[in-house]
Amino acid sequence: MEGGASDAKLAIESSPIRGEGVSLEECQRMIQRSLRTPMVKFLVENLEKSGCIVADNFIKAVNCTKQISGGYTRGEGIMVCSNYMNIQDEVNQVVIHELIHAYDDCRAANLDWADCAHHACSEIRAGHLSGDCHYKRELLRGYMKMRGHEQDCVRRRVMKSVTANPYCSEAAATDAMEAVWDICYNDTRPFDRAP
Ligand SMILES: [Zn+2]
Repeated sequence: MEGGASDAKLAIESSPIRGEGVSLEECQRMIQRSLRTPMVKFLVENLEKSGCIVADNFIKAVNCTKQISGGYTRGEGIMVCSNYMNIQDEVNQVVIHELIHAYDDCRAANLDWADCAHHACSEIRAGHLSGDCHYKRELLRGYMKMRGHEQDCVRRRVMKSVTANPYCSEAAATDAMEAVWDICYNDTRPFDRAP
């Protein structure tokens, strides 16, 4: 993208520290395993159908210095932070979440990661469609409230990611999230409905 600031092309996910993490090699093997799961396969197929080829090194294990679980960077691909991964399910989640960002970046030529509403929209979709907020995972994080927990959880995670964007203050992130919530929460492409 011409003229865009260099730090306006990525979305990162913050992550609580839990466990010891795994080695880069183990994380790379976990990424390979995730690529054989139906949901990851489906997303990769749809990225390719949309004209974005997923090369062998598109998803990389990285040792992250910041406290994040992973991220997607335009032109570079997906990183999974090995030092914050402990089990296969966590790697699958990060890969699925970041593939939804990659899909959004692929299908919307004018997507601007510096625009808080664009970023919030992709986070809403990634949070909703990836199953980040399925009830079992929420229990693991210690959030027990049943009613409306899924949307509360997606909102909480959208705010974490969007406020990490240097272009989005807390107020800007909140306004952006509310403005695009209905449209983006209900936009389940490439799925027919939320998996
Ligand atoms: Zn995200």
